Amino acid sequence: MGLLKEMRERHDCPLAASRANLVFGAGNANADLMFVGEAPGRVEDEQGLPFVGRAGQLLDQLLGEVGLSRKDVFITNVLCCRPPGNRDPQPEEIEACKPYLYRKVELIEPKVVCTLGNFATRLLTRSSRGIMSVRGKPQVHELGGRWVRVYPLCHPAAALRTPATLDALREDFQGLPGMLEEPPPQPPAMPPPAGPPEPAAASQLDLLG
Ligand code: URA
Repeated sequence: MGLLKEMRERHDCPLAASRANLVFGAGNANADLMFVGEAPGRVEDEQGLPFVGRAGQLLDQLLGEVGLSRKDVFITNVLCCRPPGNRDPQPEEIEACKPYLYRKVELIEPKVVCTLGNFATRLLTRSSRGIMSVRGKPQVHELGGRWVRVYPLCHPAAALRTPATLDALREDFQGLPGMLEEPPPQPPAMPPPAGPPEPAAASQLDLLG
């Protein structure tokens, strides 16, 4: 069964009952660049498409400023159902949608995954650090069975509210074309295996003896 059909039929998200449409994601299924937002808003829920409201228009504009467009990218969200009144996603909703997000990454095989805002960033970097301390700095993570660059960015909806956030988002977008030219990331070096006990311990025993 295709992933979209599976999500429609077997989705166990607590929000499935209240949504108008499931928002799977949209764009180029062969894209090197994937964006992961938070959750569909009202317009996205009505249309069944991600980032089609004002935040989406800003995303389009910022893509255009670095020579990209929607046909170059795949866009999805942590949640595929709209939380009532656009409230924050709840942990059980994130847990229900997480396996589908990972499978989308597996299918698209992006080189770079831009996480938009705190929820996507914390989930995909497996860290509780806030977006303002990690934005604009690529990290290497294993997602969907492959090593990819995760590039945390401020959420466009926050950028619509706060000019300084828009400046930060615009500045971070400038890093995207270069990052897409880079070869796939190498897995981070493993720490060396624990060795035998330090010789110092023995010499100290000598001294004491
Ligand atoms: N905000 C999001 O996080 N996702 C959307 O699809 C729209 C607005």
